[in-house]
Amino acid sequence: MGVRTWIEGWPVYRQALGADRTGRGAAAKSRTSETLTPRTETADEVVKSICPYCAVGCGQDVYVRNGAVTQIEGDPDSPVSRGRLCPKGSASLQLTTGSSRVQQVLYRRPHSDHWEHLDLDTAMDMIADRVIAARRDHWQDEQGGARTRRTMGFASLGGATLDNEENYLIKKLFTALGAVQIENQARV
Ligand code: SF4
Repeated sequence: MGVRTWIEGWPVYRQALGADRTGRGAAAKSRTSETLTPRTETADEVVKSICPYCAVGCGQDVYVRNGAVTQIEGDPDSPVSRGRLCPKGSASLQLTTGSSRVQQVLYRRPHSDHWEHLDLDTAMDMIADRVIAARRDHWQDEQGGARTRRTMGFASLGGATLDNEENYLIKKLFTALGAVQIENQARV
């Protein structure tokens, strides 16, 4: 590459002498980036959702290709956020694809000092047994003469990585079971 070609490829040179004086378009592109295609252009479909991380509830466009999430962007149609996401919401793609995401059930037995792997069916059976027992043992038909018909044996506290649809189903399930305390960390 000649010196002249090298200088003409320098972003500062292109910003100073080209049409992109703010350096936010063509001047900032490298030769490599000019050959790349945004993931948003190669998606099969775009699904509307809500950022799960906090109570602001910013709208998200979730880009999907071959059944996998490839990109998450702010939803310009959202009256709440109008296309914007904070850094946390912008990074929520990692919820679905992050290499550090735990993919197996981990269980620590009472008084144990380590975690062990369980298969999903075993874990689901253990949870179901505990829910049924806690509901039965702590069912309350009335209190102080007032009809309550509720269980005080368990509560639900959801995590911030639960999405809108999951929280909807959790609320339905726990209310149907008779639970009273149903909350989510994102409301805190
Ligand atoms: S974490 Fe950020 S992007 Fe997500 S809802 Fe809250 S403010 Fe919006």
